[in-house]
Amino acid sequence: MNRRSLVVTNIQRMCFHDGPGIRTTVFTKGCSVHCPWCSNPENISFEPEIYEKDGIQGIYGREYTAAELEYILLKDRDFWGEDGGVTFSGGEALMQAEALADILIRLKELRVHIALETALFVQGENLQRVLPYIDYVIADVKTLESHVCKEIMGGDLATYLDNIQKLYTSGKLRLFRLPCCEEYTFTNNNRQLVNEFLCQYQDIPVQVFAIHKLGEKKYQSLGKTMWKAKELDRQSLEDYCEELRRHGIRAEVIQI
Ligand code: SF4
Repeated sequence: MNRRSLVVTNIQRMCFHDGPGIRTTVFTKGCSVHCPWCSNPENISFEPEIYEKDGIQGIYGREYTAAELEYILLKDRDFWGEDGGVTFSGGEALMQAEALADILIRLKELRVHIALETALFVQGENLQRVLPYIDYVIADVKTLESHVCKEIMGGDLATYLDNIQKLYTSGKLRLFRLPCCEEYTFTNNNRQLVNEFLCQYQDIPVQVFAIHKLGEKKYQSLGKTMWKAKELDRQSLEDYCEELRRHGIRAEVIQI
């Protein structure tokens, strides 16, 4: 893999949930953790993967140079309006920090608003490498139980917490996102930990959402089976948001 090229699985136009305004979202390939509920299985492995869908074969993952990406992304500029721009999501875009920095520098020079969606299970230097060029960060909050984090997702909680603190200090952390699944992130214990965690960052709003099965066809296309979580009803999420609001946290339920 050429570390100066960004490996991307999808470039999605007209996105409304990936930061302010209307955005073009770039999904990068490869993640540092493996959440059982992941709805983007094609973004977990760093290697290009052959898939088969409806009898047609293709490859998840293509390398783009910064110049190629700039050319493609700027075609959408007229749609972004005053508030919108480009969002880098994944996978974990920070795992390709060098290649990401190359395209971010170009976009920043062109005054494009840049957002990043991240789970933050990466070395601090990866974050520091790209943070100067990013305007707006959406950070996941998943499980804050150290052993669950390690055994179920393969993530190091201390690394995550350290990155959150650095990000918060930078002033670029704008939103938390909590994927809710009864088995891991919506347990009584984790909810209590999340409450305490969010109370430390009360000026940052949180969006909560139920994990969904929309990725099932993508798992099938890779010859894999999707793990099925119990379904969480909307009222449980609304009640949880109400509980967070009683702690002074701005919380809302979203559907993604
Ligand atoms: S952090 Fe996101 S992309 Fe990575 S495994 Fe978890 S849900 Fe999937």
